[in-house]
Amino acid sequence: MIYADNAATTKLSKTALQAMLPYMEELYGNPSSLYAFGQKAKEALEDARARIAACIGAQPREITFTSGGSEADNQAILTAARLGQRKGNRHIISTAFEHHAVLHTLEKLKQQGFEITLLDVHKNGIVTPEQVAQAIREDTCLVSVMYANNEIGTVQPIAEIGAVCREKGVLFHTDAVQAAGHLHIDVEKQNIDMLSLSAHKFHGPKGIGVLYAKRGIPLECVISGGGQERGKRAGTENVPAVMGMAAALEEACRDIDSNAEKLIPLRDRLIAGLGQIPYSELNGDGENRLPGNVSFCFEGIEGESLLLLLDDKGVCASSGSACTSGSLDPSHVLLAIGRPHEVAHGSLRLSLGEDTTQADVEYLIRAVTEVVTYLRSMSPFWRDLVSGKRPHVFSE
Ligand SMILES: *Cc1c(COP(=O)(O)O)cnc(C)c1O
Repeated sequence: MIYADNAATTKLSKTALQAMLPYMEELYGNPSSLYAFGQKAKEALEDARARIAACIGAQPREITFTSGGSEADNQAILTAARLGQRKGNRHIISTAFEHHAVLHTLEKLKQQGFEITLLDVHKNGIVTPEQVAQAIREDTCLVSVMYANNEIGTVQPIAEIGAVCREKGVLFHTDAVQAAGHLHIDVEKQNIDMLSLSAHKFHGPKGIGVLYAKRGIPLECVISGGGQERGKRAGTENVPAVMGMAAALEEACRDIDSNAEKLIPLRDRLIAGLGQIPYSELNGDGENRLPGNVSFCFEGIEGESLLLLLDDKGVCASSGSACTSGSLDPSHVLLAIGRPHEVAHGSLRLSLGEDTTQADVEYLIRAVTEVVTYLRSMSPFWRDLVSGKRPHVFSE
Protein backbone atom coordinates (compact mmCIF):
# COMPACT_ATOMS: atom_id res chain seq x y z
CA MET A 1 0.00 0.00 0.00
CA ILE A 2 1.13 3.53 -0.73
CA TYR A 3 -0.29 6.05 1.71
CA ALA A 4 -0.52 9.34 -0.17
CA ASP A 5 -3.11 11.05 1.98
CA ASN A 6 -1.04 12.72 4.67
CA ALA A 7 -3.16 15.86 4.44
CA ALA A 8 -6.11 13.81 5.74
CA THR A 9 -4.17 12.35 8.63
CA THR A 10 -0.70 11.02 9.39
CA LYS A 11 0.78 7.97 11.03
CA LEU A 12 1.52 8.36 14.73
CA SER A 13 5.30 8.72 15.12
CA LYS A 14 7.21 6.29 17.34
CA THR A 15 8.40 9.21 19.45
CA ALA A 16 4.81 10.36 19.99
CA LEU A 17 3.65 6.85 20.89
CA GLN A 18 6.49 6.43 23.40
CA ALA A 19 5.62 9.77 24.98
CA MET A 20 2.00 8.69 25.38
CA LEU A 21 2.40 5.20 26.80
CA PRO A 22 3.39 6.08 30.40
CA TYR A 23 0.31 8.31 30.70
CA MET A 24 -1.96 5.50 29.57
CA GLU A 25 -0.33 2.88 31.77
CA GLU A 26 1.12 4.04 35.09
CA LEU A 27 0.62 7.80 35.20
CA TYR A 28 -3.13 7.92 34.77
CA GLY A 29 -3.86 10.50 37.50
CA ASN A 30 -6.21 13.40 36.94
CA PRO A 31 -4.27 16.69 36.64
CA SER A 32 -6.96 18.41 38.72
CA SER A 33 -6.46 16.08 41.71
CA LEU A 34 -4.55 17.57 44.62
CA TYR A 35 -2.53 14.52 45.65
CA ALA A 36 0.97 14.05 44.27
CA PHE A 37 -0.10 11.34 41.78
CA GLY A 38 -2.49 13.79 40.10
CA GLN A 39 -0.01 16.64 40.30
CA LYS A 40 2.51 14.51 38.41
CA ALA A 41 0.12 14.48 35.46
CA LYS A 42 -0.40 18.22 35.89
CA GLU A 43 3.36 18.83 35.76
CA ALA A 44 3.65 16.76 32.60
CA LEU A 45 0.80 18.71 31.04
CA GLU A 46 2.43 22.05 31.84
CA ASP A 47 5.78 20.83 30.57
CA ALA A 48 4.10 19.83 27.30
CA ARG A 49 2.40 23.24 27.11
CA ALA A 50 5.75 25.01 27.46
CA ARG A 51 7.38 22.80 24.81
CA ILE A 52 4.52 23.38 22.37
CA ALA A 53 4.66 27.13 23.03
CA ALA A 54 8.40 27.10 22.31
CA CYS A 55 7.80 25.42 18.92
CA ILE A 56 5.72 28.38 17.71
CA GLY A 57 7.42 31.26 19.54
CA ALA A 58 4.62 31.65 22.09
CA GLN A 59 4.36 31.80 25.89
CA PRO A 60 2.97 28.74 27.72
CA ARG A 61 -0.08 30.62 29.00
CA GLU A 62 -1.01 31.53 25.43
CA ILE A 63 -1.61 27.83 24.67
CA THR A 64 -5.04 26.23 25.20
CA PHE A 65 -5.60 22.54 24.51
CA THR A 66 -8.64 21.65 22.40
CA SER A 67 -10.07 18.48 20.88
CA GLY A 68 -8.43 19.32 17.55
CA GLY A 69 -8.23 21.79 14.71
CA SER A 70 -11.98 22.15 14.28
CA GLU A 71 -12.58 23.13 17.89
CA ALA A 72 -9.64 25.56 17.85
CA ASP A 73 -11.04 27.23 14.71
CA ASN A 74 -14.51 27.48 16.29
CA GLN A 75 -13.17 28.93 19.53
CA ALA A 76 -10.92 31.48 17.81
CA ILE A 77 -13.69 32.79 15.60
CA LEU A 78 -16.33 32.87 18.34
CA THR A 79 -13.87 34.71 20.60
CA ALA A 80 -13.27 37.45 18.04
CA ALA A 81 -16.98 37.65 17.25
CA ARG A 82 -17.98 38.16 20.90
CA LEU A 83 -15.25 40.76 21.44
CA GLY A 84 -16.34 42.57 18.29
CA GLN A 85 -19.98 42.42 19.18
CA ARG A 86 -19.34 44.26 22.44
CA LYS A 87 -18.02 47.22 20.48
CA GLY A 88 -20.67 46.93 17.78
CA ASN A 89 -18.16 45.53 15.26
CA ARG A 90 -19.87 42.74 13.37
CA HIS A 91 -17.83 42.41 10.20
CA ILE A 92 -15.53 39.41 9.62
CA ILE A 93 -13.13 38.81 6.73
CA SER A 94 -12.04 35.34 5.63
CA THR A 95 -11.45 33.54 2.34
CA ALA A 96 -13.54 31.39 0.04
CA PHE A 97 -11.23 28.38 0.40
CA GLU A 98 -11.01 27.94 4.17
CA HIS A 99 -11.64 24.63 5.90
CA HIS A 100 -15.29 23.96 6.75
CA ALA A 101 -14.49 24.36 10.47
CA VAL A 102 -14.00 28.04 9.64
CA LEU A 103 -16.63 28.44 6.92
CA HIS A 104 -19.46 26.75 8.82
CA THR A 105 -18.70 28.74 11.98
CA LEU A 106 -18.85 31.94 9.93
CA GLU A 107 -22.13 30.77 8.40
CA LYS A 108 -23.60 30.45 11.90
CA LEU A 109 -22.42 33.94 12.82
CA LYS A 110 -23.98 35.28 9.64
CA GLN A 111 -27.33 33.95 10.83
CA GLN A 112 -26.71 35.85 14.07
CA GLY A 113 -26.34 39.12 12.20
CA PHE A 114 -22.62 39.23 11.43
CA GLU A 115 -21.52 40.37 8.01
CA ILE A 116 -19.02 38.03 6.39
CA THR A 117 -16.69 38.95 3.53
CA LEU A 118 -15.08 35.92 1.88
CA LEU A 119 -12.13 37.07 -0.20
CA ASP A 120 -11.71 35.61 -3.68
CA VAL A 121 -8.67 33.46 -4.14
CA HIS A 122 -6.40 34.07 -7.12
CA LYS A 123 -6.04 31.35 -9.74
CA ASN A 124 -2.72 30.39 -8.15
CA GLY A 125 -4.45 29.66 -4.84
CA ILE A 126 -3.06 32.66 -2.98
CA VAL A 127 -4.74 35.56 -1.18
CA THR A 128 -2.77 38.81 -1.03
CA PRO A 129 -2.25 41.27 1.85
CA GLU A 130 -3.58 44.00 -0.49
CA GLN A 131 -6.92 42.18 -0.76
CA VAL A 132 -7.11 42.00 3.02
CA ALA A 133 -6.18 45.68 3.40
CA GLN A 134 -8.89 46.69 0.94
CA ALA A 135 -11.56 44.62 2.68
CA ILE A 136 -10.93 45.89 6.24
CA ARG A 137 -13.56 48.34 7.47
CA GLU A 138 -14.15 50.36 10.63
CA ASP A 139 -16.38 47.60 11.98
CA THR A 140 -14.13 44.61 11.12
CA CYS A 141 -13.51 42.47 14.21
CA LEU A 142 -11.56 39.57 12.69
CA VAL A 143 -9.50 38.46 9.70
CA SER A 144 -9.11 34.67 9.40
CA VAL A 145 -6.85 33.36 6.62
CA MET A 146 -5.42 29.85 6.59
CA TYR A 147 -1.65 29.38 6.52
CA ALA A 148 -1.68 26.52 3.97
CA ASN A 149 -4.69 25.16 2.14
CA ASN A 150 -5.62 21.55 2.89
CA GLU A 151 -6.65 20.63 -0.65
CA ILE A 152 -4.28 22.43 -2.99
CA GLY A 153 -1.45 23.04 -0.51
CA THR A 154 -0.86 26.69 -1.39
CA VAL A 155 0.90 28.79 1.25
CA GLN A 156 -0.44 32.22 2.13
CA PRO A 157 1.67 35.32 2.97
CA ILE A 158 0.67 35.09 6.61
CA ALA A 159 3.24 37.49 8.11
CA GLU A 160 2.31 40.21 5.63
CA ILE A 161 -1.43 39.70 6.17
CA GLY A 162 -0.79 39.78 9.94
CA ALA A 163 1.10 43.08 9.55
CA VAL A 164 -1.85 44.63 7.70
CA CYS A 165 -4.22 43.53 10.48
CA ARG A 166 -1.95 44.79 13.24
CA GLU A 167 -1.62 48.16 11.56
CA LYS A 168 -5.40 48.46 11.35
CA GLY A 169 -5.97 47.11 14.85
CA VAL A 170 -7.95 44.03 13.73
CA LEU A 171 -7.53 40.56 15.27
CA PHE A 172 -5.86 38.04 12.98
CA HIS A 173 -6.47 34.28 13.18
CA THR A 174 -4.81 31.66 11.03
CA ASP A 175 -5.75 28.01 10.66
CA ALA A 176 -2.24 26.57 10.59
CA VAL A 177 -3.33 22.94 10.76
CA GLN A 178 -1.73 21.98 7.43
CA ALA A 179 1.32 24.18 7.95
CA ALA A 180 2.42 22.97 11.38
CA GLY A 181 5.42 20.69 11.19
CA HIS A 182 5.99 21.57 7.53
CA LEU A 183 6.50 25.34 7.60
CA HIS A 184 8.13 27.47 10.27
CA ILE A 185 5.74 29.21 12.64
CA ASP A 186 6.64 32.19 14.81
CA VAL A 187 3.53 33.89 16.14
CA GLU A 188 5.43 37.04 17.15
CA LYS A 189 7.36 37.54 13.92
CA GLN A 190 4.32 36.62 11.83
CA ASN A 191 1.97 39.03 13.63
CA ILE A 192 -0.48 36.26 14.54
CA ASP A 193 -3.09 36.85 17.28
CA MET A 194 -4.73 33.42 17.20
CA LEU A 195 -3.64 30.16 15.56
CA SER A 196 -5.09 26.63 15.30
CA LEU A 197 -3.13 23.37 15.32
CA SER A 198 -4.14 19.72 15.12
CA ALA A 199 -1.81 16.94 16.27
CA HIS A 200 -2.92 14.21 13.85
CA LYS A 201 -1.71 16.27 10.89
CA PHE A 202 1.90 16.16 12.16
CA HIS A 203 2.24 12.54 13.31
CA GLY A 204 0.59 13.10 16.67
CA PRO A 205 -2.60 11.44 17.94
CA LYS A 206 -6.12 12.25 16.76
CA GLY A 207 -8.57 14.27 18.83
CA ILE A 208 -6.15 16.81 20.25
CA GLY A 209 -5.15 20.27 19.13
CA VAL A 210 -4.12 23.71 20.24
CA LEU A 211 -5.51 27.18 20.11
CA TYR A 212 -2.83 29.81 20.52
CA ALA A 213 -4.25 33.16 21.64
CA LYS A 214 -1.98 36.13 22.25
CA ARG A 215 -1.92 37.26 25.90
CA GLY A 216 -4.70 39.70 26.63
CA ILE A 217 -7.23 38.01 24.34
CA PRO A 218 -9.98 36.63 26.60
CA LEU A 219 -11.04 33.37 24.99
CA GLU A 220 -14.71 32.58 24.63
CA CYS A 221 -15.51 29.40 26.55
CA VAL A 222 -17.04 26.88 24.12
CA ILE A 223 -17.19 23.87 26.46
CA SER A 224 -18.59 24.76 29.86
CA GLY A 225 -17.96 22.79 33.03
CA GLY A 226 -14.91 22.52 35.25
CA GLY A 227 -12.15 25.06 35.46
CA GLN A 228 -9.60 23.30 33.26
CA GLU A 229 -7.58 25.37 30.78
CA ARG A 230 -8.04 28.49 32.92
CA GLY A 231 -11.78 28.18 32.67
CA LYS A 232 -11.82 28.42 28.89
CA ARG A 233 -12.21 24.77 27.99
CA ALA A 234 -13.79 22.42 30.49
CA GLY A 235 -13.19 18.69 30.62
CA THR A 236 -10.49 16.47 32.09
CA GLU A 237 -7.39 17.00 30.00
CA ASN A 238 -6.41 14.27 27.56
CA VAL A 239 -2.96 13.91 29.08
CA PRO A 240 -1.64 11.05 26.90
CA ALA A 241 -2.72 12.86 23.73
CA VAL A 242 -1.17 16.14 24.88
CA MET A 243 2.11 14.34 25.60
CA GLY A 244 2.01 12.72 22.17
CA MET A 245 1.25 16.03 20.52
CA ALA A 246 4.14 17.81 22.23
CA ALA A 247 6.59 15.07 21.23
CA ALA A 248 5.31 14.98 17.64
CA LEU A 249 5.45 18.75 17.23
CA GLU A 250 8.98 19.02 18.62
CA GLU A 251 10.12 16.23 16.31
CA ALA A 252 8.40 17.70 13.25
CA CYS A 253 9.70 21.22 13.94
CA ARG A 254 13.23 19.94 14.47
CA ASP A 255 13.09 18.16 11.10
CA ILE A 256 11.21 20.80 9.06
CA ASP A 257 14.12 21.73 6.82
CA SER A 258 15.49 18.23 6.27
CA ASN A 259 12.00 16.86 5.54
CA ALA A 260 11.31 19.66 3.06
CA GLU A 261 14.63 19.01 1.37
CA LYS A 262 13.63 15.39 0.91
CA LEU A 263 9.97 15.95 0.01
CA ILE A 264 10.20 18.83 -2.47
CA PRO A 265 12.11 16.86 -5.16
CA LEU A 266 9.62 13.96 -4.79
CA ARG A 267 6.69 16.36 -5.04
CA ASP A 268 8.15 18.06 -8.10
CA ARG A 269 8.89 14.74 -9.81
CA LEU A 270 5.27 13.69 -9.20
CA ILE A 271 3.98 17.01 -10.55
CA ALA A 272 6.13 16.64 -13.66
CA GLY A 273 5.02 13.03 -14.17
CA LEU A 274 1.30 13.72 -13.81
CA GLY A 275 1.68 16.82 -15.96
CA GLN A 276 2.48 14.45 -18.85
CA ILE A 277 -1.12 13.25 -18.81
CA PRO A 278 -2.93 15.15 -21.58
CA TYR A 279 -5.56 17.70 -20.54
CA SER A 280 -4.46 17.84 -16.92
CA GLU A 281 -3.37 20.75 -14.77
CA LEU A 282 -1.76 21.30 -11.39
CA ASN A 283 -4.02 23.11 -8.93
CA GLY A 284 -2.38 26.06 -7.21
CA ASP A 285 1.02 27.67 -7.40
CA GLY A 286 3.92 25.37 -8.33
CA GLU A 287 6.39 26.90 -5.89
CA ASN A 288 4.38 28.38 -3.04
CA ARG A 289 2.96 25.07 -1.85
CA LEU A 290 3.43 22.59 0.96
CA PRO A 291 6.47 20.32 0.44
CA GLY A 292 4.28 17.20 0.16
CA ASN A 293 1.19 18.45 -1.69
CA VAL A 294 0.30 17.50 -5.27
CA SER A 295 -3.18 18.43 -6.50
CA PHE A 296 -4.37 17.91 -10.05
CA CYS A 297 -7.49 18.24 -12.14
CA PHE A 298 -8.04 15.88 -15.09
CA GLU A 299 -10.53 16.62 -17.81
CA GLY A 300 -13.17 14.00 -18.51
CA ILE A 301 -12.67 12.20 -15.17
CA GLU A 302 -14.97 11.61 -12.25
CA GLY A 303 -12.94 11.93 -9.05
CA GLU A 304 -14.72 9.19 -7.11
CA SER A 305 -14.05 6.53 -9.76
CA LEU A 306 -10.44 7.62 -9.89
CA LEU A 307 -10.09 7.10 -6.15
CA LEU A 308 -11.77 3.68 -6.18
CA LEU A 309 -9.57 2.37 -8.99
CA LEU A 310 -6.46 3.78 -7.31
CA ASP A 311 -7.54 2.00 -4.14
CA ASP A 312 -7.57 -1.26 -6.17
CA LYS A 313 -3.97 -0.50 -7.06
CA GLY A 314 -3.08 -0.01 -3.39
CA VAL A 315 -3.01 3.78 -3.44
CA CYS A 316 -4.65 5.82 -0.67
CA ALA A 317 -5.48 9.20 -2.14
CA SER A 318 -8.16 11.83 -1.93
CA SER A 319 -10.15 13.94 -4.33
CA GLY A 320 -9.91 16.96 -2.08
CA SER A 321 -10.54 17.12 1.59
CA ALA A 322 -11.60 14.04 3.55
CA CYS A 323 -14.41 16.08 5.05
CA THR A 324 -16.23 16.64 1.76
CA SER A 325 -15.62 13.27 0.15
CA GLY A 326 -18.82 11.33 0.00
CA SER A 327 -20.66 14.44 -1.12
CA LEU A 328 -21.20 14.96 -4.83
CA ASP A 329 -20.66 18.71 -4.72
CA PRO A 330 -17.41 19.76 -6.32
CA SER A 331 -14.82 21.10 -3.92
CA HIS A 332 -15.39 24.72 -2.82
CA VAL A 333 -11.61 25.15 -2.91
CA LEU A 334 -11.34 24.24 -6.60
CA LEU A 335 -14.32 26.44 -7.45
CA ALA A 336 -12.69 29.26 -5.47
CA ILE A 337 -9.59 29.14 -7.68
CA GLY A 338 -11.81 29.28 -10.74
CA ARG A 339 -11.97 25.66 -11.87
CA PRO A 340 -15.20 25.04 -13.81
CA HIS A 341 -17.57 22.47 -12.24
CA GLU A 342 -16.89 19.67 -14.72
CA VAL A 343 -13.13 19.94 -14.19
CA ALA A 344 -13.40 20.36 -10.42
CA HIS A 345 -15.10 16.94 -10.34
CA GLY A 346 -11.98 15.31 -11.78
CA SER A 347 -9.61 16.23 -8.99
CA LEU A 348 -6.94 14.25 -7.19
CA ARG A 349 -4.89 15.17 -4.14
CA LEU A 350 -1.76 13.17 -3.35
CA SER A 351 -0.10 14.27 -0.12
CA LEU A 352 3.31 12.74 0.47
CA GLY A 353 4.89 12.04 3.83
CA GLU A 354 8.34 11.50 5.26
CA ASP A 355 8.08 7.76 4.46
CA THR A 356 7.36 8.31 0.75
CA THR A 357 10.12 6.96 -1.51
CA GLN A 358 11.26 7.67 -5.05
CA ALA A 359 9.88 4.25 -6.05
CA ASP A 360 6.49 5.17 -4.55
CA VAL A 361 6.41 8.31 -6.67
CA GLU A 362 7.20 6.37 -9.86
CA TYR A 363 4.46 3.89 -9.00
CA LEU A 364 1.99 6.73 -8.34
CA ILE A 365 2.74 8.28 -11.74
CA ARG A 366 2.18 4.94 -13.51
CA ALA A 367 -0.96 4.09 -11.54
CA VAL A 368 -2.64 7.48 -12.03
CA THR A 369 -1.74 7.57 -15.74
CA GLU A 370 -3.21 4.09 -16.25
CA VAL A 371 -6.41 4.80 -14.34
CA VAL A 372 -7.02 8.15 -16.04
CA THR A 373 -6.47 6.57 -19.48
CA TYR A 374 -8.80 3.69 -18.63
CA LEU A 375 -11.59 5.89 -17.25
CA ARG A 376 -11.41 8.19 -20.24
CA SER A 377 -11.66 5.24 -22.61
CA MET A 378 -15.08 4.46 -21.12
CA SER A 379 -16.37 8.01 -20.68
CA PRO A 380 -19.05 9.43 -23.00
CA PHE A 381 -18.07 12.87 -21.68
CA TRP A 382 -14.48 12.30 -22.79
CA ARG A 383 -15.69 11.13 -26.22
CA ASP A 384 -17.50 14.47 -26.63
CA LEU A 385 -14.31 16.30 -25.78
CA VAL A 386 -12.28 14.26 -28.26
CA SER A 387 -14.84 14.68 -31.05
CA GLY A 388 -14.99 18.42 -30.45
CA LYS A 389 -18.65 18.36 -29.39
CA ARG A 390 -17.53 19.95 -26.15
CA PRO A 391 -14.64 22.41 -25.84
CA HIS A 392 -11.57 21.44 -23.81
CA VAL A 393 -10.84 23.52 -20.71
CA PHE A 394 -7.14 22.61 -20.53
CA SER A 395 -4.60 22.46 -23.30
CA GLU A 396 -3.00 19.15 -24.27
C1 LIG B 1 -7.76 18.69 9.28
C2 LIG B 1 -7.98 20.16 9.27
C3 LIG B 1 -8.81 20.77 10.24
C4 LIG B 1 -9.57 19.97 11.26
O1 LIG B 1 -8.73 19.45 12.24
P1 LIG B 1 -9.30 18.26 13.18
O2 LIG B 1 -8.26 18.08 14.22
O3 LIG B 1 -9.46 17.07 12.30
O4 LIG B 1 -10.59 18.76 13.73
C5 LIG B 1 -8.95 22.14 10.20
N1 LIG B 1 -8.32 22.88 9.26
C6 LIG B 1 -7.53 22.34 8.33
C7 LIG B 1 -6.86 23.21 7.34
C8 LIG B 1 -7.35 20.96 8.29
O5 LIG B 1 -6.57 20.42 7.35
